[in-house]
Amino acid sequence: MEFDAVVIGGGLAGLSCAVSLAEQGHRTAVVSAGQSALYFSSGSLDLLSSLPDGTPVASPPEALAALARQAPRHPYSLLGAREVMARADEAQALLARCDIALTGSSGQNHQRITPLGTRRATWLSPGDVPITPWDGALPWQKVAVIGIEGFLDFEASIVAASLMAEQGIHADTACLRLPALDRLRASPSEFRAVNIARVLDLPENIPALAAELARLAGDAQCLILPACVGLDSAQPLEQLRALLDRPVYLLPTLPPSLLGIRLFQALRRRLNRLGGVFMPGDKVLKARFAGRRIVSLSTRNHADIPVRARQVVLASGSFFSNGLTATRERIYEPVFGLDVQGGEARDTWSRADFFAPQPYLQFGVETDDRLRALLGGEPLENLYAIGAVLGGYDPLSQGCGAGVSLVSALHAAGRIAVTLEKDHEPTL
Ligand SMILES: Cc1cc2nc3c(=O)[nH]c(=O)nc-3n(C[C@H](O)[C@H](O)[C@H](O)COP(=O)(O)OP(=O)(O)OC[C@H]3O[C@@H](n4cnc5c(N)ncnc54)[C@H](O)[C@@H]3O)c2cc1C
Repeated sequence: MEFDAVVIGGGLAGLSCAVSLAEQGHRTAVVSAGQSALYFSSGSLDLLSSLPDGTPVASPPEALAALARQAPRHPYSLLGAREVMARADEAQALLARCDIALTGSSGQNHQRITPLGTRRATWLSPGDVPITPWDGALPWQKVAVIGIEGFLDFEASIVAASLMAEQGIHADTACLRLPALDRLRASPSEFRAVNIARVLDLPENIPALAAELARLAGDAQCLILPACVGLDSAQPLEQLRALLDRPVYLLPTLPPSLLGIRLFQALRRRLNRLGGVFMPGDKVLKARFAGRRIVSLSTRNHADIPVRARQVVLASGSFFSNGLTATRERIYEPVFGLDVQGGEARDTWSRADFFAPQPYLQFGVETDDRLRALLGGEPLENLYAIGAVLGGYDPLSQGCGAGVSLVSALHAAGRIAVTLEKDHEPTL
């Protein structure tokens, strides 16, 4: 199997890099071992919400100089402010081409309403999620927060209490009971957001759902539901809004997250349409080198058929996705044995205060300032590292997880495209 580029990992970083390469006409494959962080994500994409010293960030471009001073090894600091902002805007356009409807802009963060009813700064949010301007409020005086009977991954009363306390609006709560859900509810472990959506999204169930929601919502100006509607298309929600004649918004639930899965599906669909190859359930195990160049990859399912590529992208995620491995003694990157920043002394990996920023979240692969992965202190010629496998940043406390994934992915895709166009040598 021969490709211009092979991407290891099919999460937000790997898929967006692959889509960009395929859009530019390069034969691209993605090998992806398992579910990515998108299955667990809020669906909102963070660019930069907070500096390492805790200062909240309203405008990411205005904060990048301070970030470079406080965190010189942060991927944004390596790439430089101009490149970061150009790639962030390019990412927004790429997501739009994937038919992903997102609200927000790279110049100014907004606040999304969280599953706890509180507000959290972010860059882009699905159009179905309630948001406020950076320092503004929700536009309604009275909302109805409606949970689903037996669904444990969303608590309407917590949301309503926070909305009333933080935003001073009136929030009623109610619980949806729909006979169509009775069979599914009988098995509590199956009564999860995605399975519920598969039932509620059926066209024959929408009228009954709308009638029950109308009864529960009373005269509320807006309905807020757990994200259990509209898995494969926007149509069920649009229909509900039309039947109820008022806004209906969704809040993320515990995983599996419908809002994150929709992002994954849209990116994968776009890659398929562009002729890219997606190899789900396969895992890259090791590589063959010629000097400092990767020649081919072996995967679990294709042990006898090497996957050859001119350019390789490592988008294997952090500990969560097994892109990094921790033993009691050390942290390592399992496919290539790349240089990893952090993890030298075991007692510095974590802090006792559970809510403090945790050092291990900043561990990851070392790169040069073009994101070429380092091995033995030197960059490999044709291996880029992108997304959560990178070190030097904390996606949680700095609110920059999706931003680093998208910006690094499109930076790598841009550099690879330039190299491939110059490179007419046959693959070894
Ligand atoms: C639980 C959770 C929730 C998050 N929620 C948000 C959020 O709401 N908003 C936000 O901005 N950020 C969020 N983040 C931050 C998140 O890290 C990034 O937003 C981003 O999704 C990471 O994407 P990625 O592609 O780099 O890595 P991942 O999403 O981790 O994907 C890596 C992929 O590589 C595969 N893989 C690993 N090793 C191999 C191998 N050897 N061969 C083949 N495939 C391999 C894995 O199976 C996985 O599919 C969240 C992170 C986590 C862990």
